[in-house]
Amino acid sequence: MGISLRLILGDQLNQSHSWYKEVNPDVVYVLMEMKQETDYVLHHQQKIACFFEAMRRFASHLKSHGHRVHYVHINDEENQQKLSTNIAWLINFYSASKFEYQLPDEYRLDEELKALEKSLDVPVYAVDTEHFLSSRKDLEEQFANKKQVLMESFYRGMRKRYGILMDAPDKPKGGKWNYDAENRKPYKGKEALPAHNQPRNKLSQVKEDMVKADLNYFGEMPEDTAFWPLDREQALQVLQDFIQHGLPYFGTYQDAMKTGNDFLFHSRLSFALNVKLLHPMEVIKAAEEAHQRSPAVYSLAGTEGFIRQILGWREFVRGIYWWKMPEYGESNFFGQTRELPTWYWTGETKMHCLKECIKGSLNNAYAHHIQRLMVTGNFALLAGIHPTAVDAWYLGIYIDAIEWVEMPNTRGMSQFADGGFLGTKPYVSTANYIDKMSDYCGHCHYDKKLKTGAKACPFNSLYWHFYERNRALLEKNPRIGMMYQLLNKMDTNEKQKILSHAEGLLQNLDKL
Ligand SMILES: Cc1cc2nc3c(=O)[nH]c(=O)nc-3n(C[C@H](O)[C@H](O)[C@H](O)COP(=O)(O)OP(=O)(O)OC[C@H]3O[C@@H](n4cnc5c(N)ncnc54)[C@H](O)[C@@H]3O)c2cc1C
Ligand code: SF4
Repeated sequence: MGISLRLILGDQLNQSHSWYKEVNPDVVYVLMEMKQETDYVLHHQQKIACFFEAMRRFASHLKSHGHRVHYVHINDEENQQKLSTNIAWLINFYSASKFEYQLPDEYRLDEELKALEKSLDVPVYAVDTEHFLSSRKDLEEQFANKKQVLMESFYRGMRKRYGILMDAPDKPKGGKWNYDAENRKPYKGKEALPAHNQPRNKLSQVKEDMVKADLNYFGEMPEDTAFWPLDREQALQVLQDFIQHGLPYFGTYQDAMKTGNDFLFHSRLSFALNVKLLHPMEVIKAAEEAHQRSPAVYSLAGTEGFIRQILGWREFVRGIYWWKMPEYGESNFFGQTRELPTWYWTGETKMHCLKECIKGSLNNAYAHHIQRLMVTGNFALLAGIHPTAVDAWYLGIYIDAIEWVEMPNTRGMSQFADGGFLGTKPYVSTANYIDKMSDYCGHCHYDKKLKTGAKACPFNSLYWHFYERNRALLEKNPRIGMMYQLLNKMDTNEKQKILSHAEGLLQNLDKL
């Protein structure tokens, strides 16, 4: 029969996969640390270190259960640092008669593996990762003949399909599908913030290996320690901790932001989910069961708000990715051209909201959703930054950033680069929204109320500049038309002052 070589990618750490049901000495599992994967974009050091450590622990887990594993470390002599050449080498090394892989989640790797399949002279088999709740094609099939792709209708379909928060096959629990109106309040400090009992992982060995391999990276990892769950036990512990302490207030404060608090009531589960240490359904079920057990603590609104993120958004953006790649990666609806201001890499800006969100990201490789969308993303869009530069920043800095989920969120939801395919209107705002949802403006060098002058909050003039310069593309959009009515009514002199102030800012983004 010969040896069968089975590839496990760094984000395929699903120990419940049916591959592992039987121990077979003729199967060799391969995990590889490669420069190809660390270098395709400049990454946060925690991201590289956590991926490597989670892979190493997964390999140990498989070995301790009797499986044969070939682990290629970043500094191994035989490591050619590229997936296809390493696989070709390993097939030769083991005289393997078969090569198998789990379908990758990134287009880039999917293409590479398809090309590899053609070049190998052993049979190749691809299997599902057994992780997602919808297939690559489900969304496209559901919406192929529709004018608009709506997350809400996709999500309702998923609720029915899996019977989540349902009173009857067609009846959502409590009579409503969506409780957004009851969620999303600013956090005023009334409820105690959860302690976030995160695992403490000392990663000195991995860090040493990264330095020896001369890898490029940025961001912080004080004392070579990372607080992300890196194996199944830790992931379950973080899930349990979140259900107990975070979920009761998740919905209420999901859009809130607060100086000095990087996590609020968020779950911090995205890394564990994206590398498949957790299955989305076990997270959804844990939340649903908590609500069933104690509805007074776990309100329907808050639980629904959380489940929507995983059963709805997470699956939805994946569907968009597989439907629209590779063109999606080129989309630039507004034709934006600027580079990111240098302070995106340091957090050294006078704008307190951006400083908080960027410093937090550099320290933790994390920012929560509304910081990504309504602070860093909002500013990048208003400032006309090229979506490819924005994509590269998000893909590099966040612990959970894998292209299938990062790109639709960044290019689509945040930068509207797809012209409104994923979202219906651009997520831009003045200081008003940021002030409503946070305490940031109270700590800022700039004045949230002013539109012009040295102290004026940059968001306030850039906002109108954005609408004015994109008039031809947006004015006819029914969800946006109102902004143009306001713009048209504005006093001409006042408007001119605002627009030229914004022009000045755009010429000096690095100095803000
Ligand atoms: C510009 C931008 C870039 C983003 N890039 C990524 C990324 O690279 N990887 C990533 O996993 N998420 C990304 N998101 C979505 C979201 O911000 C993160 O999933 C979330 O902040 C992770 O933190 P958490 O685990 O504490 O999430 P919570 O707020 O606790 O939410 C629970 C879970 O819901 C899921 N989820 C929530 N919102 C989304 C969403 N919009 N799309 C997909 N899943 C969602 C995640 O799995 C998350 O773990 C991005 C959002 C924006 C606006
Ligand atoms: S005033 Fe403007 S720049 Fe300052 S924190 Fe508020 S929104 Fe941000």
